[in-house]
Amino acid sequence: MKSAFVVALDGPSGSGKSSTARGVADRLSLAFLDTGAMYRAMTWALLKRGVDVNDPDEVAAAAGDVHIVSGTNPLAPSIEADGVDVAVAIRTDEITAAVSAVAAVPRVRELMAEQQRAIIAASRGIVVEGRDIGSAVAPRANVKVYLVADPEARAGRRAAENAGADEAATQEALAARDHKDSTRAASPLAKADGAIVIDSTFMTLDEVIDRVVDLVGDAR
Ligand code: C5P
Repeated sequence: MKSAFVVALDGPSGSGKSSTARGVADRLSLAFLDTGAMYRAMTWALLKRGVDVNDPDEVAAAAGDVHIVSGTNPLAPSIEADGVDVAVAIRTDEITAAVSAVAAVPRVRELMAEQQRAIIAASRGIVVEGRDIGSAVAPRANVKVYLVADPEARAGRRAAENAGADEAATQEALAARDHKDSTRAASPLAKADGAIVIDSTFMTLDEVIDRVVDLVGDAR
């Protein structure tokens, strides 16, 4: 069987991964997978079970029972945990603050990566966004992009998404999460071998999408 064409899009929080990944998938009629949403859904389900998310053993013991279903339509992304639509619930500050601890647990990463590889294999071509796609989940991806932006730009975008959020506080929270994500032992956030760095600080979303679409064109 011919393997799916994979675009791996990694980078820190607020670098524009989700919008870029959805835009590229839509333009090229590819599927789309938001792996961050899967870690958030796992976190939601563990908190709902009363698991102490700062206890890696408790997290590891409970994670296997959580059932996550991710939609792959870039125009209608969806995510369910244990049969519940959690698309809105996973975007709260509570989940955002807890997710990095859950994502650092090796058992969680193993479960998520296994599920992500199955979704990739079942697709006819897919844009996958996250932190470890090009480095760990799909190291043989056809195109690997590492999307970055200055901290001020990232915080500004996030604050604009969450109408009225304080920019300084947002920047601090992003920095704390990136630090946790890039210093954990299990598949930390890092530029994958062979990844092309795109700095979106002074680019519009359309310009970033154009650039990735061009890279896909070169690789096909
Ligand atoms: O992309 P998003 O901000 O929704 O990701 C939420 C969290 O999920 C990240 O801060 C990180 O801890 C975790 N994550 C991960 N590996 C991925 C995607 C997300 O560890 N591939």
